[in-house]
Amino acid sequence: MTNPRIQKSDAEWKALLAEKGAEPAAFEVTRHAATERPFTGKYEAHWADGSYHCVCCGAKLFDSGTKFDAGCGWPSFSQAVPGAITEHVDRSHGMVRTETVCSNCGAHLGHVFPDGPAPTGLRYCMNSASLDFAPEDGQA
Ligand SMILES: [Zn+2]
Repeated sequence: MTNPRIQKSDAEWKALLAEKGAEPAAFEVTRHAATERPFTGKYEAHWADGSYHCVCCGAKLFDSGTKFDAGCGWPSFSQAVPGAITEHVDRSHGMVRTETVCSNCGAHLGHVFPDGPAPTGLRYCMNSASLDFAPEDGQA
């Protein structure tokens, strides 16, 4: 198991997220693998062009072009930026699921399921609170 490059204490993450103005749920979601309630996240039905980054460390995780409406109440993506996400087997809650964390800082993001659209067949089911959206980069 590889350790994330960025490691901070709970108090440090809490302070950093508060400073960034992250959602109140962001700390529990990203550092303690909580799950936000469905249909409550600000990015659940957010379709602007741009990219989604880790709310903790700013690493780019997804392009808006891979976001799709899975109807599950959480932001869903069919493909992650290569190398940006690390997967772990999660046996909590009596299920076997694949947890996804930020490769850079270890933030819990959500889970990935094998029932997404072609061509990947994957559904990255993310907590909105763990994401930070940036509009299309480059020249306007
Ligand atoms: Zn991160």
